[in-house]
Amino acid sequence: MLPWRFLHPRMWAFNARNVSHFLIDTVRGAPPRPLRARDYVARHATQGDAASVLATLDRYATEERWLMSVGPEKGPLMSEMIGGLPDGARVLELGAYCGYSAIMICQRLAPPGTLVSVELSPANAEAARDNIAVAGFAERVELRIGSSSDEIAKLEGPFDLVFLDHWKDLYKTDLQLLEKRGLLRPGSVVVADNTGDLFSPEAYLSYVRTCGRYDSESREAHIEYSQLPDAVEISVYRGPDAT
Ligand code: CA
Repeated sequence: MLPWRFLHPRMWAFNARNVSHFLIDTVRGAPPRPLRARDYVARHATQGDAASVLATLDRYATEERWLMSVGPEKGPLMSEMIGGLPDGARVLELGAYCGYSAIMICQRLAPPGTLVSVELSPANAEAARDNIAVAGFAERVELRIGSSSDEIAKLEGPFDLVFLDHWKDLYKTDLQLLEKRGLLRPGSVVVADNTGDLFSPEAYLSYVRTCGRYDSESREAHIEYSQLPDAVEISVYRGPDAT
């Protein structure tokens, strides 16, 4: 269920456009949006050119249908986070969607660094896999289809950076599962997208800010492809025994 804040007047124009597109697509029996975005990339992006794939997804999101991809505004932030990782870093992403953030991460993650991306929806995973392949990163991304909790239970760690961009209600429980399974090391960076007031995953924010095991800060941003306020929470893991 969407948070009540999505009924706020400043969301009306944003919602009206998306609801009208949803109704049009439903009446037409259109394929899932990520697969249409994938087909758009196949038609318009340059093979082997990651920047071209991202630009094509940006164009689709602004001219055709809104996509809940991380979007271009957070590029410098992702660059900063990924650029600070050690050689051969391992990155985990929860929520691949169309593969946009996976491509953005791989652009900035120097080889032999690798990305594991977990996606629940088979249609989203199909779109992500194809877009990642067009970008030239098929060999560097391990895409796993399944629920985040099931996949976390099977992963080997540690990961140097974790990007949370799936269901906001799962942020806290999945982070605790990552801790329990030893998939974080002291210094691991956890980047959580969409932590602004309009989403407000309060249980997660309260946890990373008060449990004592993280140094956590919020960065202002906007909801992708809009001027609606949002935020990204960046939390550095101190270790299991930190208080
Ligand atoms: Ca997001």
